[in-house]
Amino acid sequence: MGDHFQTIVDLEASPQQAPRLAERVVEWLVAEGIVRAELVPDCVYGQPLGRMPGPDWQRAVAPQDARFGPGEGLAVYSERTVFHGGQGGPEAVSCPRCGVTTRLITDEWEDIDDAWAPFGTAISAWHETGEAPVDCPACTEAVPLPDWTWTDDYFAFAHLGFEFWNWPPFTEEFRTRISELLDGHRTAYVWGKL
Ligand SMILES: [Zn+2]
Repeated sequence: MGDHFQTIVDLEASPQQAPRLAERVVEWLVAEGIVRAELVPDCVYGQPLGRMPGPDWQRAVAPQDARFGPGEGLAVYSERTVFHGGQGGPEAVSCPRCGVTTRLITDEWEDIDDAWAPFGTAISAWHETGEAPVDCPACTEAVPLPDWTWTDDYFAFAHLGFEFWNWPPFTEEFRTRISELLDGHRTAYVWGKL
């Protein structure tokens, strides 16, 4: 068993909005008792500090999933971040303009290098600069990297995300409530294992 995570990513928050929205969501999570207010070391991966589960963490999960409590804490990202599903990789990616899906792996789970290459390059560029168009192989339009749709939300390119480590799966209601707190922004639900 590895460590697993669930990340609720705000796909629309601008770099300027992200810190304020992060604060609003954390305040709500603390008020609900879902996480604790204090930042403590060694309770998340990828960041030095996180927030441990609060006394009422069950409010975020379904009763049948609440037999085992969360193992670790919440890490908040409020800067430009490549969120991804950890182990494995994306199966396919779809163009938001023409809807055509490009497969990135074969039926034998091997990377299709030619299909993957432009996205790999764009991911590095976006990480560096925050901008990276990818020419769609079907309609040839230059589509910004964050606008593409990945199988199972494998990737999300965004400025705000709430990453929970070793928690039971969240309810739809909980995720919707977070999205409402984010001014109704579109969100992605990225999950995976280390
Ligand atoms: Zn297209």
